[in-house]
Amino acid sequence: MAKTASRLTALYGGTFDPIHYGHLKPVEALAKQVALHQVTIMPNNVPPHRAQPLANSEQRKTMVELAITGNALFKLDDRELQRETPSYTVETLEQLRSEIGAEQPLAFIVGQDSLLSLQRWYRWETLLTLCHLLVCQRPGYSLSMNTPEEQQWLDAHQTTSVEELHNQPAGKIYLAQTPMYDISATAIRRRLEQHLPCDDLLPAAVAEFIRQHHLYC
Ligand code: ATP
Repeated sequence: MAKTASRLTALYGGTFDPIHYGHLKPVEALAKQVALHQVTIMPNNVPPHRAQPLANSEQRKTMVELAITGNALFKLDDRELQRETPSYTVETLEQLRSEIGAEQPLAFIVGQDSLLSLQRWYRWETLLTLCHLLVCQRPGYSLSMNTPEEQQWLDAHQTTSVEELHNQPAGKIYLAQTPMYDISATAIRRRLEQHLPCDDLLPAAVAEFIRQHHLYC
């Protein structure tokens, strides 16, 4: 394991409007479980048919930077924010694959809620040809899939072997035992709108940035 541990890297996509401890803490625990040395946070450019973020791209990017300063596990990649077009995970993964080659193990991290809706993502069938999926638990979301077909798909790809994640480039789904944080960006935005405190829900530097820029109120 130690010989291959540094090879697996992971991407973590999302709106991050704003980034909060429900994003960061489960992923820190996941990283320990599967020996991830680096997680690249990639804020996305939201497709027009979805609810648009309240904070603009630059603000969401800055909040991620503030949240991960001094934490060597995380780095930021703002390539999706640089594009004019909406972000489709599959296209970003294809781009990354062409950069790192076919053999490098690559993972994409999602929360349990995202796994449950994954089959609605653009070209979802292609995702596992490009990466593994690492899934963090999230309170309130079922551990089983919505339909027998979806469950079959999960069963066919699920692994409990960390070795497999490191030794194969893509194709596996790993359901991690991560601590549950009942936090969502939606709930934080609502609390801020009502001028309720959020200081235990997100890093202090992010809370301060939100205050300074009068975001979400
Ligand atoms: P919103 O409330 O605006 O929909 P969110 O809090 O769900 O946002 P996103 O930026 O949409 O956050 O999520 C990015 C990724 O983080 C997704 O894969 C999501 O499943 C995961 N995630 C977000 N919050 C949690 C949490 N509390 N526990 C585990 N995973 C989470």
